[in-house]
Amino acid sequence: MSRQYYIAGNWKMHKTRAEAAELAKALVDGLKDGKHKYLAAPGFTLLETVAALVKGSNIRLGAQNMAAEEQGAHTGEVSVLQLKDLGVETVILGHSERRHIYKEDDGLINKKVRLALKQGLEVILCVGETLEEREAGKAEAVCETQTVKGLEGVSAAELSKIVIAYEPVWAIGTGKTATPEDADAIHAYVRGVIGKLYGAEAAGKIIIQYGGSVKPENAAQLMAKENIDGALVGGAALKADTFVPIAKFS
Ligand code: PEP
Repeated sequence: MSRQYYIAGNWKMHKTRAEAAELAKALVDGLKDGKHKYLAAPGFTLLETVAALVKGSNIRLGAQNMAAEEQGAHTGEVSVLQLKDLGVETVILGHSERRHIYKEDDGLINKKVRLALKQGLEVILCVGETLEEREAGKAEAVCETQTVKGLEGVSAAELSKIVIAYEPVWAIGTGKTATPEDADAIHAYVRGVIGKLYGAEAAGKIIIQYGGSVKPENAAQLMAKENIDGALVGGAALKADTFVPIAKFS
């Protein structure tokens, strides 16, 4: 089954508006003849600036998180309605930095997933094991639990708006990449989990990105694997010089 490659940049807590504008312009220019699906996910305060620059291009606008409630007394949170108002089409949920630094659990992440879908956003649901869990032989089980719990209550129709990102925690921002073989094995496993939940056709269609120190030098080998359908890129997404070659891997 052929799936579209989907390359997403997570800018994390980097850049001012002027720096974000410079990067967004360079990405629009660098990717205008790109053949895959692309996303830029800048920080909340940069969304309006970047939205104006990617409008009409082949780059979608994404947010890195959102509140689990639609609106109300939630000091410091950002609502899905506010994101949509800025033109956000996609939200990254369950990133390992949210799970591990900010202690978001599967229940909270699932609430966010369902709210984002109800509001028509595409969701990139991140799953991945820590080094300790991998060394204890639990990588598959951890990814299965995070996938199953993250998607609780998500209908088969809504699944078309879900992208999974497999991001082994030990490979994020560390310079250590999972080997293409190791990554593909977990991708195949997660695809099997989707198959158990939603059937073989849905499993064949779902896009599963890899994330964890993806660079121009390793992107093509990762993408060549049967079950790897794209990348969620952190550090290398901060410069057009590194993101564009990943996004246009060959
Ligand atoms: C990420 O934050 O999603 C990520 C994969 O980061 P990096 O590419 O820097 O490892």
